[in-house]
Amino acid sequence: MPDKSLTAEKIEHWLREENPDRLDELWRAADETRRQTVGDAVHLRGLLEISNHCVRTCAYCGLSRHNRQLKRYRMSAAEILAGAREAMRFGYGTVVLQAGEDYGLAVEWLTQVVRRIKNETPLAVTLSLGERPLPELEALREAGADRYLLRFETSDRRLYEVIHPSTPVRKSDRVQMLQELRRLGYEIGGGVMIGLPGQTYATLARDIEWFNRLDLDMIGVGPYLVHPETPLGREEIKPEIDPREQTPATDTMAYKVIALARLVCPEANIPSTTALAVANRKEGRMLGLQRGANVVMPNLTPASYRIHYEIYPEKACLQETAEAGDSLLRRQLRTIGRTAGVGPGSRKKTERPFSSLIRNLLMKDGKPLILCVDDDPDVLDHLRMILEGNGYYAVTASNAEEGFAKYREKNPDLVIVDLMMETIDAGHLLIKNLRAMNHTAPLLMLSSVGDALQASIDTAELGISAVIQKPVQADSLLNILRAKLK
Ligand code: SF4
Repeated sequence: MPDKSLTAEKIEHWLREENPDRLDELWRAADETRRQTVGDAVHLRGLLEISNHCVRTCAYCGLSRHNRQLKRYRMSAAEILAGAREAMRFGYGTVVLQAGEDYGLAVEWLTQVVRRIKNETPLAVTLSLGERPLPELEALREAGADRYLLRFETSDRRLYEVIHPSTPVRKSDRVQMLQELRRLGYEIGGGVMIGLPGQTYATLARDIEWFNRLDLDMIGVGPYLVHPETPLGREEIKPEIDPREQTPATDTMAYKVIALARLVCPEANIPSTTALAVANRKEGRMLGLQRGANVVMPNLTPASYRIHYEIYPEKACLQETAEAGDSLLRRQLRTIGRTAGVGPGSRKKTERPFSSLIRNLLMKDGKPLILCVDDDPDVLDHLRMILEGNGYYAVTASNAEEGFAKYREKNPDLVIVDLMMETIDAGHLLIKNLRAMNHTAPLLMLSSVGDALQASIDTAELGISAVIQKPVQADSLLNILRAKLK
């Protein structure tokens, strides 16, 4: 059930967000959505990089046919079958066969390999073989392939054409191909690079909106990593944009995109990618899993080939054996309270509603949320009018008990409480309860004897940031809000 309330404008706002507290809210919302929709299991997909030949010349990719430095290889059918059996032995539910767009891998040969994996193992088969012709994709689907990955890298058409030159026989159009793959019955996976030269915050926000529009079953994202043997790496191509609009190729930006992808497409399978593990070697992969991801793709390619599958340099775990990688991964999963999934881990469609935590996060959109607690409906209306007319969201409660419940549900940025409500000390009691739960939002107290009260009580000891005289004057309230919400 994709959420339509997260528009490109709101997504862009989150991409620009740098306040650590607000980002914590985003991580929590993404993690909670992940838990509610796809659960705690982390699906492991054994990755086999079966060939590094490619007919294309993508401007960022080390496998481009223009890269003469790269030693090329193709795995044999026997090696691929052995890799699939190894995936089964480790208890993985899927094997991913990945290659450049390599017509040295004939479709007849590929269909036989897929058929053998499907006949000899219970594994789901994911293919990532580039923009092969439609009849070939149809034949591979008939042979039993379940899923197809094809990252479109950017939804900005101009940038797309710069980084994905056409071959002499065919123009590149990955988005259209994803739609064809869906029609053929594949589960489809797409995604983008983060911090690609020429990518603005606005285009990255639109990319994320596209995940929703294409209703992707799998979403793979990772930071752009420079390969020196490519036109982008050598800066022969330099898309011209305002430097302030260029997205950074950082792991933090990648976590933001993973978290937003989870909110936009709650049911999707989202890997914590190798590029993330390269950008943050120590904890990149686990942080990805704690910020919305639910899939890891351990690399089962024999090490002698793996070093030559160099889309970008210095890939993580190049020399690690499959056994060592698997046992490290399982230990890491245990430390974050997650377990390895069982079975193929296909996308499951759900109709679960979003939790209030997520709704609130989406609703707030950067505007501070103010909780107003007063038993006089006229006062609440007056406060709401002032707040909503001046760039704040307002939620109201008409007694202390409701105020406490709304605080827990809405997690507001600031609270305005009347001193005397249903009982003479209701306001005080509410403040005491909020202090007991270690609230962080500033508290303002309303009182018809405000100035006298201010002089007679120790506001700091009570945990009150300011006392406001009733009837409330808009200017003085707004000045206090600006000061307290800096
Ligand atoms: S991105 Fe894919 S299609 Fe493009 S050059 Fe690299 S391997 Fe080939």
